[in-house]
Amino acid sequence: MKKCILCSKEEDVSLLKKVKGIEIYACSNCQLGFLDEKGLKKQRSLKISYTPDEYEKQECKLRRRFLELSEVIRLYKKSGRVLDLGAGFGLFASILQEKGYDLTVVEPANDPFYVKKGAKIYKKTFENFFKTNRQKFDVIIMMDIIEHLINPLQALLQAKSSLSEGGIIVIQTPNFQSLMAKMCKDWSWWMVEDHKFFFTPQSLSAMAGGAGLREVFSKTYEDFPDFKKNLDGNFSGIRNKFFKKAYKGIYFILFFSFYLAFRKFLWKNNFGGLIFSIYKKNV
Ligand SMILES: [Zn+2]
Repeated sequence: MKKCILCSKEEDVSLLKKVKGIEIYACSNCQLGFLDEKGLKKQRSLKISYTPDEYEKQECKLRRRFLELSEVIRLYKKSGRVLDLGAGFGLFASILQEKGYDLTVVEPANDPFYVKKGAKIYKKTFENFFKTNRQKFDVIIMMDIIEHLINPLQALLQAKSSLSEGGIIVIQTPNFQSLMAKMCKDWSWWMVEDHKFFFTPQSLSAMAGGAGLREVFSKTYEDFPDFKKNLDGNFSGIRNKFFKKAYKGIYFILFFSFYLAFRKFLWKNNFGGLIFSIYKKNV
């Protein structure tokens, strides 16, 4: 039997799906998805790497998205010290630097080359960073990392202990109950090579609540090109090029006119592909 780390229950956990031979379980009580121990062992043989080239190709799109998100952060914390955990190549962190925040970055694997001078950069794991860290931060960023961690609840507790009075924790993670996840045969964020946990707005809130955090903002959203790219996988079974093109064309026109008209409504109702939430310490 598999146990949910949030509810500690076994009876609510069932097999959600199998991706590349790895089983993903989900808890029907809190909506947390996860790989079990056997899955984690298998995962180690499926290593992938993120290359800066691929990232740079998407830079324009990401910069636009990050600018929008940084404006949301500014509504809750206008200035102060930012800690970006798992900053990757550092694009989002560099945008926060441009907005005048004082930046500290912890990134164990990648070179955060976008980050400008003046930032403190720690090339170590979060665990090692928190072991010796005595500083407090006004904004702690956890963008697209919580799903990669062996113990996300512990990471939230550690982040909370480094939060200043009135500080905020910003989390982004994929939403496995999104329209994208449901419609796309090969939803790219079922990335079993690297993702250990899968969230919905409900399970992310539940986990943050378990760490003594209170949600002050939450939205779901996704980028149109991401959705389109993910949907492409649905047509991989059609061999005839002409039929494939025609079928895809009709499908895209019909679906995307519906989607573009209603996406704000879908996002509001938690069907967006990504969850973006802001938390404060419980008082
Ligand atoms: Zn649960």
